[in-house]
Amino acid sequence: MTAAPRISFVSLGCPKALVDSERIITRLRAEGYELARGHAGSDVTIVNTCGFLDSAQAESLAAIGEAMKENGKVIVTGCMGAEPEKITSQFPKVLAVTGPQQYESVMDAVHRALPPMHEPFVDLVPPQGLKLTPRHYAYLKISEGCNNRCSFCIIPKLRGDLVSRPAADVLREAEKLVAAGVKELLVISQDTSAYGVDVKYAASQWKDREVQTKFISLARELGEFGVWVRLHYVYPYPHVDDVIPLMAEGQKTGGVLPYLDIPFQHASPDVLKRMKRPGAQQKTLDRIKQWREICPSLTLRSTFIVGFPGETDADFEFLLDWLDEAELDRVGCFKFEPVEGAPANDLDGAVPQEVKEDRWNRFMQKQQKISARRQKKKVGTRQQVLIDELTPTGGKGRSKADAPEIDGTVHVVSRRPLRVGEFANVKIERADEYDLFGTVIGF
Ligand code: SF4
Repeated sequence: MTAAPRISFVSLGCPKALVDSERIITRLRAEGYELARGHAGSDVTIVNTCGFLDSAQAESLAAIGEAMKENGKVIVTGCMGAEPEKITSQFPKVLAVTGPQQYESVMDAVHRALPPMHEPFVDLVPPQGLKLTPRHYAYLKISEGCNNRCSFCIIPKLRGDLVSRPAADVLREAEKLVAAGVKELLVISQDTSAYGVDVKYAASQWKDREVQTKFISLARELGEFGVWVRLHYVYPYPHVDDVIPLMAEGQKTGGVLPYLDIPFQHASPDVLKRMKRPGAQQKTLDRIKQWREICPSLTLRSTFIVGFPGETDADFEFLLDWLDEAELDRVGCFKFEPVEGAPANDLDGAVPQEVKEDRWNRFMQKQQKISARRQKKKVGTRQQVLIDELTPTGGKGRSKADAPEIDGTVHVVSRRPLRVGEFANVKIERADEYDLFGTVIGF
């Protein structure tokens, strides 16, 4: 028997790109390809690139360069593939360049470079596909593309307008994942709350009922699987309010977690206008207050951009005051960086680099204090924790308030050995800005 053709894979970028990588790898394994650990031992390398920021493009080009040097047979896919000349001008010998979500084109390129081995009697892939994330959590992509036109972003240009998956398709995938042992579903898209707008919320048949392709309908159905459901990238439309009562139930029983990842990006109405984002942030403060009244344990995560063209000192101070009032739990902050092709590049009022640095530092200092204050409130409480990793004295895991990779960790001590992927009830004894520390008191 000849050895199976071997492929090495580099996956760069956001969780959405990770889902693309999982799909490609699932197909490769289904066709008998093996994954190699390094480029040197592989027949072909696939690099899934990220093209969102200039720094991400540089990282992608460096990864392609490394693969070319070590292996020489390289297929490039992902966001940067939407502008192939950027890649071929530096690496004219790459075997193929395909764009985001072009799974078929990637497979065609692989077949051309390295024909598959036929082993029809060997089923190499479990029915739920292969996942690059640990077995107990999985990303669930509900749509591609985006109908918004935020001026700093080229994603709609790269990935096109919103295309939602039918609700029944998403639910079928979720069901398979849960059957395979997944305990937490992370719902992702470019704009989760816009789900279904493109198909006018068309219904599809799921079990004995019709389910609309709609944010709230999908959240309700996913909540029925009895696992944690975490909603990411929720654009702050008014109908987001509808999901808060579901989260209030989720804070007791699991299901749709009391966790909202809403990229607010800024608070000053002028900056938001130039960003082409919704601008009524006073209203947003009122809404946050109402959400917390309905669901007191709600965790709010967000990202912001400082140093956007035209951001004045007054805009920035407004943002800091807004942060004080909003009391968000988890916050990421980026210094504005022009992305080639983004309309924001043509705006006047560029903010000097040292001002951006200064604002970023002040922003982070302020938010760290807020996050630390909110974390401290958890000392003395009991939290359900999903164990991600084992340690000599217990394990590391996450509470309902912590998404994998981007949020904090709960460090737990346990008398009985823990298992990865199990839930434990933990009494919280200590907190810092990001992490919690406690002891297992039950399961
Ligand atoms: S919502 Fe705005 S930032 Fe997000 S993908 Fe769409 S255009 Fe880009």
